[in-house]
Amino acid sequence: MNILVIATHNGHQVDRSSLSAIEFARQIAGDAQFVQVLLLGHQIDAAVAHASRFAPVLYADHEILSEPLADRFAVVIASVAKDSRVDIVVAASGSWAHDVVGRAAGLLGGTMVGNVIQHQINDGELLFKRSLYAGRVTATVALCKYPGVVTVRGSAYPAASEYPEPFPVTTVDLAGMEIRVRGSHLGLVARSGDRPDPTDARVIVSGGYAFKTAENFEQLVGGLADTLGAAAGASRALVNVGGAPSEIQIGLTGKVVAPELYLAFGISGAIQHLAGMKNSRIIVAVNTDPNAPIFKAADYGLVGDVFQVIPELIDKLSW
Ligand SMILES: Cc1cc2nc3c(=O)[nH]c(=O)nc-3n(C[C@H](O)[C@H](O)[C@H](O)COP(=O)(O)OP(=O)(O)OC[C@H]3O[C@@H](n4cnc5c(N)ncnc54)[C@H](O)[C@@H]3O)c2cc1C
Repeated sequence: MNILVIATHNGHQVDRSSLSAIEFARQIAGDAQFVQVLLLGHQIDAAVAHASRFAPVLYADHEILSEPLADRFAVVIASVAKDSRVDIVVAASGSWAHDVVGRAAGLLGGTMVGNVIQHQINDGELLFKRSLYAGRVTATVALCKYPGVVTVRGSAYPAASEYPEPFPVTTVDLAGMEIRVRGSHLGLVARSGDRPDPTDARVIVSGGYAFKTAENFEQLVGGLADTLGAAAGASRALVNVGGAPSEIQIGLTGKVVAPELYLAFGISGAIQHLAGMKNSRIIVAVNTDPNAPIFKAADYGLVGDVFQVIPELIDKLSW
């Protein structure tokens, strides 16, 4: 089975979630030699070199691809998938992937399965599990028409391991492709800050409604995150009152994460929040309410006040 993984990158490195998509592809392909990675963008030499440590790389480096606009990217993805006789196109789940590879699925005329958390092969048939209703229901689905397009949750698979020697790298010729420029990119407002993205982080310090204001959140959750070199996360209740930016909301309608360590401060543990972090390897919760549901999901719990516990932690860890 030939698999094409659409890898996202920051121009220098392939994103952690795409490395998980490569691992998923290796597992369903049966053999790593049937997996190829496609990188699109402009001035992406470093990212291409990084990707070549994981699988053979196809890449298109062109001005027209400098911004990740779905109508342009989807045409290239569909064209490469057709030319390479790909059985399944894989990408890491996310709103960008669902926009871009969703369009590519339409152009390819196959079927799409989104947000896969597990797979199995039953009597030769490839089956995928998807989590629905905040993890209460797991649906098992199959592709009924190929080529298929599958997005996989980055937290559900480990990052692919590197090979000692780089794989070959091949340029994609855009000449024969009808890339119509229907939309244009006017600008990007990115929040400043050096903290890692929660989706890629090994440690996340997360804060809930207990913090109430952006000042408290930044000083305590942000302060501890910076002390640990961790990402910051937040519950929706805190995001809703402007206490934290929406990009770092964790949960059903936010990001789904699975770090090595998830520190939940002043978060009650609503099912919608748990849906985004319950697969973390170790969960630590601090809450004043000993009956808070978060303690049921936690490996370690402390009944305490975050306004007292976090400054103490920062103080101890700063030594
Ligand atoms: C369709 C839908 C989608 C949703 N999606 C999401 C989502 O993606 N992510 C998400 O998080 N929520 C989501 N929610 C909201 C969710 O149901 C909860 O309302 C939310 O998670 C609660 O956030 P919280 O735990 O911060 O706030 P609260 O439930 O108000 O809990 C605050 C906690 O802080 C504790 N506390 C208060 N003061 C202190 C202190 N000083 N020290 C220590 N502890 C203290 C309290 O005991 C309490 O447990 C969604 C809801 C719906 C209906």
